[in-house]
Amino acid sequence: MTKSRRCVMGCGRPADSSTPEGLSCTPCDTKAGYENAHSDNGHDTIEKLTVKGSVFKTKAELEAWRDSERVFMAECWICDPSLDLSAKTYVERQGTSRAGVRHSVPLREAGQVKAAIVAEKLGESFHTEIKVAKKADRVTLVAEGAGETMELLWDLAGRFVTGTWSVNLDGAHDRIRLVRNVSEAYRVLGVAK
Ligand SMILES: [Zn+2]
Ligand SMILES: [Zn+2]
Repeated sequence: MTKSRRCVMGCGRPADSSTPEGLSCTPCDTKAGYENAHSDNGHDTIEKLTVKGSVFKTKAELEAWRDSERVFMAECWICDPSLDLSAKTYVERQGTSRAGVRHSVPLREAGQVKAAIVAEKLGESFHTEIKVAKKADRVTLVAEGAGETMELLWDLAGRFVTGTWSVNLDGAHDRIRLVRNVSEAYRVLGVAK
């Protein structure tokens, strides 16, 4: 089971495993790309650039490049900070109930069906994954997000076995508590039933 890490840029978001080495969140990773392009292509000074001070041989060449670069500049998060998604304040999800669709898990269903129903519900706020271990007679749902990890286990017949909820506080200290049923899981995660 992987633990939720925070983005190394200190924005407060969980790190995204799809970024290089999984160290930052996607908005911060995207911003780093814009920062490189912004400085490499001299967006700040592009309007003042002259043929003499550039690698271009003619004014036409310089203008053609400047025109094409302006297309990228129009999308550049550094040229236009209002586009910068990484600057949006990350709001930690609070443990309060939020409005949501009423939702209950049917009593008589297989473990996989129950896990899928709960995963769909939690998928609004969490990254979810279901693992089925037929030999061990277990269906495991893992829901992760904002430093929290919820792990719920059913048997294949659909009986709830156990659950754990852990919070990664500062990388070193995890707070773990047992979760006895799906209702409790929703309550702990602040998900409306
Ligand atoms: Zn970030
Ligand atoms: Zn720029």
